[in-house]
Amino acid sequence: MKKFYVTTAIDYVNAPPHCGHALEKIQTDAIARYHRLLDEEVLFLTGTDENSLKNVQAAKKEGIPTKKLVDRNSKKFYELKKVLNLSFDDFIRTTEERHIKGAQKLWLACKKDIYKKTYRGLYCIGCEEFYKESELEDGLCPEHKTKLELVEEENYFFRLSKHRDELEKIIKNDEIKVTPESRKNEILSFIKSGLEDICISRSAERAHGWGIDVPGDPTQKIWVWLEALSNYINGVEYATDEKKFKKWWPADLHVIGKGISRFHCIYWPAFLLSAKLPLPKKIFVHGYLTVGGQKMSKSLGNIVDPFELVEKYGTDSVRYFLLREIPSAEDGDFTYEKFEKRYNSDLAKGLGNLVARTLTMVEKYCDGKVPEIDKDPDSHPLRIDTKIHNWKKSWADVDKHVPNFQFNEALSSIWKFITEADRYIEENRPWDLAKEGKIKELNWILYGLLNAIHQIAWQIYIFIPETSVKIAKALKLEKLLVKDPKEKDSWTNIRPGTEVKEIKPLFPKV
Ligand SMILES: [Zn+2]
Repeated sequence: MKKFYVTTAIDYVNAPPHCGHALEKIQTDAIARYHRLLDEEVLFLTGTDENSLKNVQAAKKEGIPTKKLVDRNSKKFYELKKVLNLSFDDFIRTTEERHIKGAQKLWLACKKDIYKKTYRGLYCIGCEEFYKESELEDGLCPEHKTKLELVEEENYFFRLSKHRDELEKIIKNDEIKVTPESRKNEILSFIKSGLEDICISRSAERAHGWGIDVPGDPTQKIWVWLEALSNYINGVEYATDEKKFKKWWPADLHVIGKGISRFHCIYWPAFLLSAKLPLPKKIFVHGYLTVGGQKMSKSLGNIVDPFELVEKYGTDSVRYFLLREIPSAEDGDFTYEKFEKRYNSDLAKGLGNLVARTLTMVEKYCDGKVPEIDKDPDSHPLRIDTKIHNWKKSWADVDKHVPNFQFNEALSSIWKFITEADRYIEENRPWDLAKEGKIKELNWILYGLLNAIHQIAWQIYIFIPETSVKIAKALKLEKLLVKDPKEKDSWTNIRPGTEVKEIKPLFPKV
């Protein structure tokens, strides 16, 4: 069995999750589900990054111990599993023992590239990174638009410069495939501009005692990024279970946001090269979710809370919107107006209506039983008519776009077929055929429609699983849907139940 190890970035827990976090988790979930349907053994890892100075500050503000704050917020990130119907297999926290051991093991494995020196530089606590003057925008952090802190102390450094040529070759030749191409080019030009050695520790004092000790030197804490990145190997037990580590590492895919591509495409491979560990195969860099055209931020007060959104509209509406409306590799915008429009036109009217209409007709004209036909079911126009956007085209599009992370394209194709199926009903007017007693023709049409919604249920499974299963249940296809993924275009799947039953509205109108 082929294995597929996929990770999300681990999130800072100085604040609870917002919809930007939800976007990355949902994208990764769709990928993980897709690979499970390909019959691969999938390990989907996510988690929380808890050793940052931001947590110390946030806890101080609230007057509570740092550990208490990270426990509370990490739990909220974990709760996204249920709220967003995420299928992750493991959740790693960087305060866990397996992570601490792994981070220290990685440090020791990089030892020959580590040296000590005194350093003076500008540090952004938000980024957990030093910046050069030339990288600042108006003297502020380009990512956070905040003032930086002048830091001078003796720290450990990592010989990044030594790995420059090799890193360039690795990215250029797609040994680590960075997607989309524009991000790959950004990384390459950053490498070309020259790589300086990086500071990989801070004094325990500056860290307020929070973080992971440098092995053999408790006066220093490991730089948050170095240890946070190691979560990807620690999630498969780098320091704690050799067999498991060998089985799963390297990762097949890291999913990350554009703001942290340098850490993942340069620093992380450099640490792995130094430690003589295999490199991840692919890195997908997604854009940001904006709100009404602006970056989501606490100070702007425009944070969209995924918990509230799901409570009001349901899990699948949020999943659908984020996958359908946000171009996965670019920034995408959230507004309540756009959200409700998608919900009403695509889900309630589009999908919900097609399923309800079809099942109501089958109930009315066929007593809820699968209609009998005397033609070759594979010859149904909804399946093969090349003049229309038939469901085979949607399948081809799903298989073409999902591996390239173009979820919006895949969904757009499925919804094109939904529109086609609606048009098919209008054109063929099954109610007239029933009145005229043309049972053969009527059955042919209804059979095709039933199978159409069956195919749709399959196609939407990786995006909006709950809705998919709901439709499958109504068609008595539940077991097949989940357990027999390979037969996704088989007509025989329509036959296991002798009757279908109407389901409650999938998406009530708002
Ligand atoms: Zn910053």
